[in-house]
Formats: sequence, structure tokens, C-alpha cells
Amino acid sequence: MSARVLVVDDVLPNVRLLEAKLGSEYFDVITAMDGPSALQRMAETPPDIVLLDVMMPGMDGFEVCRRIRQDAKIAHIPVVMVTALSDAEDRVRGLEAGADDFLTKPVNDLALFARVRSLVRLKMMMDELRLRERTTGDLGVLEDKASLEVDTSAARVIVLEDSAIEQKKMGDTLSAAGNIVIGAATTAEANAAALQSPPDLFIVSLGLRQEDALRFCSHLRSNEATRHLPVLLVISDTDIARLAKGLDIGVNDYITRPYDRNELLARVRTQVRRRRFQDRLRANYQRGLEMALTDSLTALYNRRYMVTHLPGVMAQMQAADKPLALFMIDIDHFKRVNDSYGHPTGDAVLRAVSRRIVDTVRQVDTVARMGGEEFLVVMPDARPDVALKVADRLRQAVADEQVPDARVPGGKLSVTVSVGVALARPEDTPDNLIARADAALYRAKQDGRNRVVMDGDAVPMAAAVGH
Ligand code: GH3
Ligand code: MG
Ligand code: MG
Repeated sequence: MSARVLVVDDVLPNVRLLEAKLGSEYFDVITAMDGPSALQRMAETPPDIVLLDVMMPGMDGFEVCRRIRQDAKIAHIPVVMVTALSDAEDRVRGLEAGADDFLTKPVNDLALFARVRSLVRLKMMMDELRLRERTTGDLGVLEDKASLEVDTSAARVIVLEDSAIEQKKMGDTLSAAGNIVIGAATTAEANAAALQSPPDLFIVSLGLRQEDALRFCSHLRSNEATRHLPVLLVISDTDIARLAKGLDIGVNDYITRPYDRNELLARVRTQVRRRRFQDRLRANYQRGLEMALTDSLTALYNRRYMVTHLPGVMAQMQAADKPLALFMIDIDHFKRVNDSYGHPTGDAVLRAVSRRIVDTVRQVDTVARMGGEEFLVVMPDARPDVALKVADRLRQAVADEQVPDARVPGGKLSVTVSVGVALARPEDTPDNLIARADAALYRAKQDGRNRVVMDGDAVPMAAAVGH
């Protein structure tokens, strides 16, 4: 994972130490030695994560963190507070200032890498989500312009812990913060709870007395239903070697006993956010595919996509002084297909014609189903003679190749298409370019169908006269 880390500390040896450690793990490290210059560096080169010393002369770490959270351009960047004291009060203040996590000096390597990786992953997910939400937003899909805030309340947490006292202590802390806690004393119980309803987070005690906690984590990672669920390990000081193995297996984070309750809650919140962002990404992606971009019958782009896409291509071609051709394609007498053989046969024809169009045009051409039995092809950088040739090849391919369908007598049927071609002019808007292709299509229909007509042509193309 290549990520840029900003290290902020007023003591040069501290900066150099973190720089060396992170550099050895191939992180790209930038540094600052006081609050104001840290903020300036962030504005110039936004990092993926900030490691922020708390005690600095002038502006302290809390204040720097507050300012990061108030600046919309950098507010989404995760901040890890590095405290010299393992002081609970510092942690509360850090949380209130908007910190995502804590590290205690001297910084332990495993802790450092685990935390940085975990938060960088979270941020990358947020960046991706932000991008997709912008695209789908442009496409007008998001009614409720969803904000990037993810609700972390009422998280479902499965706690695997075989000490009743420890389990109660953790359960009380998590419940008091509004989480739904499911306690499990054995891996079988934890498995059963996860199967019943997937949690937002597993908390697993590494010190299970009867069972191997790491084997359970590895099972979670290899199982399709649980592989994406975050896992937080609870360890003791003596468990460092096994912790390293756990992080290798893919455990997301850990906390050391005796843990501070605020630290526990902060780590839980980070993991729950990650999990819920992931869900939203997946939902967004599906929604994007299903609603914003594609037509479910033919898997072609839909009208909505084309309307967003076309202005960009037109501008691009015009800037590069290159031609652009548009085909408007309509199946001839399609209503008769439906009327004679039924709607399912009509659908089969729509799919077959779609495939033929896609097979005939180039990869760089965009094909969309504009509705009903009407298709639009955008051909960037296509000369008029080439565009016409392709349009007629397409018409010919549809006419020549029958569509197999068991519902039709003889097992197959013939269909034809009419095509209107328009070439972009400098003064064209997307709407009137489409309107000219439409007008050409109308003429192709009037002239007898199964033919190609170029917008502006006084007579139909000789080559395109139907059969
Ligand atoms: P023309 O040659 O003038 O284009 O005649 P046409 O019959 O193709 O045109 P018309 O617009 O009269 O009819 C289009 C038909 O397409 C009517 C409608 O029921 C059918 N249709 C639209 N969408 C779908 C679809 O998704 N599936 C099926 N099976 N039929 C569809
Ligand atoms: Mg038609
Ligand atoms: Mg029609």
C-alpha cells in the first residue's frame, strides 16, 4: 500500500525516527515541525494520514487537529495523535478535537504499521466513495445528496471472550456508548451469531484458554460471508509475537490490556466506519450500474448515461479538431414482432440487435439504448465516409443474421433497422446534434426503412438503398 504520511513533531530526532520506520515500509513520508507549517503542508500536498505530536510549543496538537477538522478540504484526512504520556485525559481531549486514533511514545512498530494501514485503508475507501457519489450525483441519481458522514451508532459487535469478567467489562463499555453487543464465550457461539446476522465488528480476545483465537481469525478471513468484516484483537503485553501473526492474517487492529475505555471506543468507531463505508460503496456501485448507467435488458448504457457523456465527447473532439459522428438506430416495424410473437420474443430481438451493434462498432464508440427499440452510437474521430460505411455494415449485419427464438415458427426471425447519421458541427449542442440524427432517421423510415440516411443529404445514399 503506497500512502503519504505527514509526521508532525517539534523534536527532530522523533521526526527522523518515524520517518525511518515508515520509510522502511515504503510509505512516502513528509514532515513538519510545528502546527502552522503542518497545516500549510497539508494544503499544498494533502497526505493520506497525519501522525501528530500532542505537545508542541505555540500551537499544540489538539489545536492543529481542530483546525484540520474545520477545513473542508482536509477534514477527511485521518489524524493519529502521538502522546508522550499514556494519559487518559489526553485521549479524551484528542477525541474531542477530532482525532481518529492514538499512539503512545515510544512508538511500537507493530502498533504504528497496524494503525497507519488501517486508517489509510479507511481513507482510500472514503476517497473512492466520494468520487462515485460525485459521478452518480452528476447523473442525478442521488436524490438525497448523501453526505460522507457515516453513522457509527448502534453498531453490532460480537465479542469473543471466555473470561466472564472481561466480557462484562467490555460489554458494559460498548453498550454504554450505544452499541449492540453480542457476547460469545466460544468460537462456535461467535460463528453462530455471525451467521444469524453479520456484525459490524468482531472483537476477539487473543488469550482464549481453550481455543486458538488466531485460527478463528483465519477462519473469518477465509470465509466468504465474513472475509470483509473487521476484526479487533484484544491482547496482553506478552502476546506481541502472536499479534504479528494476527496482523499478517488480516486482523485490522488491536488493543492492549488494560485498555482505556476511550481508546477502545475510538478503535471500534474507526472499524465500524470502515465497514459501513464499504457497504455504502457496494450499494452505490450496484445502484450506479443498475440505475444510473446501464439498461438492464441489453446491458448497454442508457439514455441518462449518454446525456452526461455526449457533451464531454463533443467538447473533446472539437478541442482536438476531430470529427464526431452520431447514429440514431431504430428497429423497423418492431411493434409487429411483439404483436405476432409476444413481448419475450421482442426482448430477445432487442438483445440480439444490441449485440450486433456492439460487435460492429469500435471499442472507443459508445452505444446506448435510448429507450424502446432506439439506440444511439457516438463515434469520436470518425470521418464521414467511414461513419457511413460502418452504419451500412451495421444495417447489413442486422438484416443478414436472423435472430434465433424458439417461440417463432421456424425457430428464427428476421428484423431490419433504419439508421440516421449526423456529423457534429462546431455550433452544435448535444441536443440539436441528436435532433439532426433523429431527423435523418425519420427520413430513412419514410424512404422505406432498412436504410441509412445522412443528415443533410438531399437523396438517400445509393449504397444504403434497402432490399
Ligand atoms: P417503425 O418501423 O416506424 O419504427 O415501427 P415500430 O413498430 O418499430 O415503432 P413503434 O414506435 O410504433 O413501436 C415500438 C414498439 O416497441 C412499441 C413497444 O411496445 C415496443 N417496445 C418498447 N420497449 C420495449 C421492450 O423493452 N421490450 C419489448 N419487447 N418491446 C418494447
Ligand atoms: Mg421502430
Ligand atoms: Mg420507435
